[in-house]
Amino acid sequence: MIALDEAQARLISLGREMPVETIQLIDAAGRWAAEDIIAKRTQPARDLSAMDGYAIAHTDLPGPWRVIGESAAGRRFGGAIGKGEAVRIFTGAALPTGSDCIIIQEDVTRDGDMIAINAALTVPPAQHVRRTGSDFVSGQLMISAGDPLTPARIALAASGGYGALPVRTRPVVAIISTGDELVPPGSDAGEDRLPSSNAVMIAAMLRDMPCDVIDMGIVPDTLDALVATFQSAKADIIVTSGGASVGDHDLVRPALIAAGANIDFWKIAMRPGKPLMAGKLDQSVVLGLPGNPVSAYVTALLFLRPLVAAMGGARDPLPKRSTAILEGNLPETGPRTDHVRAILSGGTITPTGPNDSAAMLGLASANALIVRLPHSPAAAPGDKIEYINAS
Ligand code: AMP
Ligand code: MG
Repeated sequence: MIALDEAQARLISLGREMPVETIQLIDAAGRWAAEDIIAKRTQPARDLSAMDGYAIAHTDLPGPWRVIGESAAGRRFGGAIGKGEAVRIFTGAALPTGSDCIIIQEDVTRDGDMIAINAALTVPPAQHVRRTGSDFVSGQLMISAGDPLTPARIALAASGGYGALPVRTRPVVAIISTGDELVPPGSDAGEDRLPSSNAVMIAAMLRDMPCDVIDMGIVPDTLDALVATFQSAKADIIVTSGGASVGDHDLVRPALIAAGANIDFWKIAMRPGKPLMAGKLDQSVVLGLPGNPVSAYVTALLFLRPLVAAMGGARDPLPKRSTAILEGNLPETGPRTDHVRAILSGGTITPTGPNDSAAMLGLASANALIVRLPHSPAAAPGDKIEYINAS
């Protein structure tokens, strides 16, 4: 058995980063920057007004002023203002030469061409002016390689002069379900068989990630069928569920070896999910998830999603841990990292029973996993406890 964090690190280093492609900003959501992104322009490019009002020179206070023109966003006033002169200005418009301060329209009384303010009004220097380069300047680092391309970073890239960004190509993920007992979802399982639920779950868990999923269906528990399936899989990541333990019908490992794979690790000090295995089959990373739906869920969250993110260029591919206040009790833990299904609501977290790794109703009601590091003491109501989001 190897520790959870060591297994995660080893898996991530098995997966090489995908090649770089350039994509339009409109398609960039959910990806990671493949390179550092440097501003190609200065923002604002000139001093701009942050309000609707009048542009003046601060030295001309307290007025009055004669209005000599107008400056609107994208249509700057061409001339310059002199002593006692002002220009009508709108939000986002460039300040005319000679002006350095904005008086908002609500503070002004206008009579024909003339404007005046209440003499008692205090107007600080550079009021309501967005200075040239106050946001960022040309040549400045805006986004670092490995940063997630959030909506705000995509907008930043557009402001910085980009129409497209370098990202990693989407890995192809092939999902293989193993088990003689499985039937496809929606078909009659009778009393002796079982609807396969792992493939649809795993596909759903990858839905918000930049990868392309192929469902390779259900493969029976025979060495030949498994070897043939592995050899026909054309994917950057091959993920299996089931057949990963040590039973007579657990043939994923021997089939992978027969197909020519190198197994990097097998058996993790975690619960659920101990019989996870990972390796390489030619250029593909193979990830063998346990068959129990809860174990498959937890290991897909802790291994498969991070692998896809790492291959996609993410700097921090692992799920974030947060803390919440425990409601309920948890026993002390042993040598493995435990993941306890739980409901997180308004800063408190409540474990959901039962802890059976085949219980699907409990899994479906949980929205978080409490993380209990090896050899944690018992936890009581009110304790601060770590969790990861799982909804
Ligand atoms: P295994 O690792 O093959 O021994 O599977 C462990 C448990 O998970 C068994 O009870 C299987 O029936 C169940 N199982 C395996 N694959 C799936 C699947 N795709 N969907 C639902 N349950 C599964
Ligand atoms: Mg099986």
